[in-house]
Order: sequence, then C-alpha cells, then structure tokens
Amino acid sequence: MLKLGGLLSPCLLFSALVLVACGEVPHNHKAVPLPAEHIEPELQTYLESYLEDAARAGVPVQAEMLRELRRVEWTEEKIVEEGDELSLGHCSRINSNSVQREERFRTIRIAPLHSLGLNLATRKGQIMMKAILYHELGHCLHDFYGHRPIEDQVIMSSELPEKRFGELPELISEHFRMMH
Ligand SMILES: [Zn+2]
Repeated sequence: MLKLGGLLSPCLLFSALVLVACGEVPHNHKAVPLPAEHIEPELQTYLESYLEDAARAGVPVQAEMLRELRRVEWTEEKIVEEGDELSLGHCSRINSNSVQREERFRTIRIAPLHSLGLNLATRKGQIMMKAILYHELGHCLHDFYGHRPIEDQVIMSSELPEKRFGELPELISEHFRMMH
C-alpha cells in the first residue's frame, strides 16, 4: 500500500491520501483463464518509460515477467485492501503456483484517477500516476514482494509524503537501485 499525500482533490473526504496496494489472488485448483492482452493507452507511456528506465539502470525487465503482465487497466471497482482502506492500484499475480508457466499471468488495475479530479494532462497528475504505476510495476515486473518501510520514503514504501514528489528523478533512481 502506498499513500501519496496531498495530491488528491479536496472533495475526497477520506483525507487526501492515495492508497496503493498489491497482493496475490488466492490460488485455486482450477487455473483462471488467460485474459486478452490489454494495456490502457493512457498508461502505455508509463509502462514504456519503466522498461526504458529499468534497462538504463542495469536492471532490465525479464522477458518472462513482461510476458506475464497481460493487463494494465482502469477499474471502476473499488480496490479495498486489508483494514477496509481504499487503494488506487493493485498488482495481482494470478495462477502463480501453476505448474504450467504459460498459465501464470499478472494484471495491474488502477482506479480511475480522472474521476477523482486528477488530470493526466497536468504535471501533477503525471507525477502521481508515474509513482503509482512504478510502484505496481515494481511488484509485477521486478517481482518485488511486500513494501519498504515508510521511513525509507521510496516508491516501494507503503507511504510517500508529498514533498518527495518534487524529487521524482531521485525517487526513480533509488527505485531501480533497489531492484539490483
Ligand atoms: Zn504495493
């Protein structure tokens, strides 16, 4: 879960925090069918820049990981995590215990930020979306489990104070340094 302070519209009474969380879908005996591949066009550029940044940082995303990521999409459903906290994003590892590797896949769902008054055409919206997507891609493409402590104030922390968003390049370098 990642909390991004202070960037949401004030109409959000649950405190101007954005929550992002990630986890696994419980394994069933019967494999979930492989969904059609779909990357939301508005989110495609963030995925591409993640792949480029990762390669540049010397931790390229493995082809198998990228193959497993079948969907990056908006969801209208509320993403509710432990403790009933609302999240804005979620990386799901599905059929992760399946013996057949080709049955395993991952999806990233992002709550519709535009409906929360966030505009991806603005720098603020882009920075926020980048942090959220990079957090989820850290789970889904670099197979990062769990979260870094809040005090670390990094992309994979469970909370991120607003002041850190002015330091996006540093945040990103730290993120990939951690993936070594
Ligand atoms: Zn997370």
